[in-house]
Amino acid sequence: MNELALRLLRHMEIVVFERKGPLQYQREGMVPDFYRQVFPDDANGDPCSEPWRHSPMLEFFLPLAENFFGEGGSGEINSGVWLEAPLTGAEEGKMPEDLPLTASALVLGDAQVFVLQCARDEYAERARILRQARNELLERRKVYSDLALFRKKSLYDAMTDLYNHAAFMDILNERMTNHKSYHAGLALLFMDIDNFKQINDAHGHLAGDSVLIQLGDILRRSLRKNDVPARYGGEEFAVLASRTTLQQGRIIGEKLRQTVEKHDFGIGQAVTISIGVSIYKSGEDAAKFINRADQALYDAKHGGRNRVEVRMPWLDE
Ligand code: GH3
Ligand code: MG
Ligand code: MG
Repeated sequence: MNELALRLLRHMEIVVFERKGPLQYQREGMVPDFYRQVFPDDANGDPCSEPWRHSPMLEFFLPLAENFFGEGGSGEINSGVWLEAPLTGAEEGKMPEDLPLTASALVLGDAQVFVLQCARDEYAERARILRQARNELLERRKVYSDLALFRKKSLYDAMTDLYNHAAFMDILNERMTNHKSYHAGLALLFMDIDNFKQINDAHGHLAGDSVLIQLGDILRRSLRKNDVPARYGGEEFAVLASRTTLQQGRIIGEKLRQTVEKHDFGIGQAVTISIGVSIYKSGEDAAKFINRADQALYDAKHGGRNRVEVRMPWLDE
């Protein structure tokens, strides 16, 4: 090999052995620093001539290389990267870093070559790419959790933790679409706190807020698993109940009305609600369905409040 090529190899932290015969290798040129850090010099002070005697990984790879050369293989086989602890190099109080090495056996023309390389740069590059990929993954995970939080905020009312108006409308439309027949029964309950303005005026806005929060808790506690309670507006709540007849809807409403009436809201006075109930009529749109529940609520208010009224779809036309 010419002088320039050997210097280049040294610069690239590559050590080349030419195979002269079975298990006979001759090292070429000068060795890079890493080589003497990892493999002990020969007895005469020359750089190690049989590194496979000092590295289990190389000891394992050498028979593979011998096999490859012995079978007259062409091209190249590669060991992959492994870490080798240096013999020296520990500065004051600092652990010496393991060196990433690779070995290859390759055929170049009629030369059989055994190559040892310190893959420091390549390894560092790979570590950099892995670190970057990891950071991107963490970043993306953060975006996902931000999205989840955003979604939660966009679905739920912050005060009562019930579904908000928009989420309720989505669920209502979905349930209406899935509604197979009139007889499956989809009931809608609209409820409104009676004289809430007076409660705010008498006890303050914070007490009013507390009533809303407690009412939210009552809805959550009292309803069946598949019923959907929501804060429809300021002091108006809605419940969507699947597989429910109008009569059952009235019973659910009556139960809620009584629970609220009996509950101690801690403001020194009773709180009551009025409730309107309607049932979905196949084919009608959400506005019509909602309007009928609203009409029933209007009936309850005008009938004296703290009561449940129903509106039947078959009386509409
Ligand atoms: P009715 O029995 O006819 O429903 O009488 P009302 O006083 O409840 O009805 P009105 O619609 O006149 O008043 C509703 C009040 O609800 C007015 C508004 O200030 C109050 N309100 C709406 N949202 C909130 C809220 O988030 N917190 C509090 N404290 N009050 C609210
Ligand atoms: Mg109101
Ligand atoms: Mg009210």
